[in-house]
Amino acid sequence: MSIAEQFPYKIELHVHLDGAIRTETIVETAKRRNIHFPWETIEELKTHLVMSAPPYHLGALLEKFHTFMPVVAGDRDAIHQIAYEFCEDCKKHDVFYTEARYSPQLFANKMSDGSKPPYAHTEGDITPREVVNIICNAFEKGSQDFGVKVKSILCCVEHAPEWSNEVLELCKEFKPRGVVAIDIACGDLDPDVPHKELHTRAFQLAAQYGIHRTVHAGESGPAAGVRLALDEMHAERIGHGYKVVDDAELYERCRRENIHFEVCPLSSVKTGSVPDDLDKHPLHRFINDEVNFSINTDDPIVLDNDLTSDYEMVMKMGLDKEHVIATIFHAARSCFAPPEEKKQILAELVKVYGEKYMKM
Ligand SMILES: [Zn+2]
Repeated sequence: MSIAEQFPYKIELHVHLDGAIRTETIVETAKRRNIHFPWETIEELKTHLVMSAPPYHLGALLEKFHTFMPVVAGDRDAIHQIAYEFCEDCKKHDVFYTEARYSPQLFANKMSDGSKPPYAHTEGDITPREVVNIICNAFEKGSQDFGVKVKSILCCVEHAPEWSNEVLELCKEFKPRGVVAIDIACGDLDPDVPHKELHTRAFQLAAQYGIHRTVHAGESGPAAGVRLALDEMHAERIGHGYKVVDDAELYERCRRENIHFEVCPLSSVKTGSVPDDLDKHPLHRFINDEVNFSINTDDPIVLDNDLTSDYEMVMKMGLDKEHVIATIFHAARSCFAPPEEKKQILAELVKVYGEKYMKM
């Protein structure tokens, strides 16, 4: 039985919509919009985008986004197409529930404060709010057409705290349309880097409003970022969080409080966030200590992965089929779907994999 066939129902909690755009959609969109783009074929663009050789670091991976985001930002059809195709790709890989994350501002061509849009070449009428509207429409249609459940997480951007309040407001407004949580992305939370108050404030209000919280922390930055995420941002899940194992007391606390870690195996290697020797990957500690974690792809466009290939990678690292299924159940229990929907997802998982994993 192939790896894909062994896991006919997958769940993904950490994937960036802008990191999961199809390469062909970027090439096509550049042609349609007459945007000068040095990579004319899918193969050329793929070769340029995919992180293929060391040294690996997070900054190099994030750099790649500057290549293609200007092609799609501010284009209504492209934004819709990307989000709709994302749903189709979920179905292709048997990902039946997922929470895709993105920054509304990075796709916009009209900023609410009148500033220059971060990626769009020309200004127009696509505000961050309209971006969320377009993507919710596409996720609703795609979920219906392909029989999957695709929710949204809206990201604050580490270096742009001035956007965070708007992100919070959009989370509130679009909650009935499947926006389930707020995140902070584009860099790791690092207590030594200033300008955090606006982020912290947005997350504290999110907790008050009942909006779920996940935070990128402890990836390439220190374990202290995880503590900050928990104490000040009221994070319920941690994006990556590998460095938590460097702080024994914090690690114990996360276990005790059943904090969920969104582990992205291939990404962790290609951002240089874990030791080169995969026997020392924190994932082994997580498994041995029964930490609550899931397996995720993060950014397939630059990593050339899918959920099956990440499952395959962890199985090569020594996890067995039962371990992987247990992580799918962890994902279901820690997802941000409303309680009724979560119950239904767990019931579907039990049907596919059996009752025993409910206890794991
Ligand atoms: Zn991420």
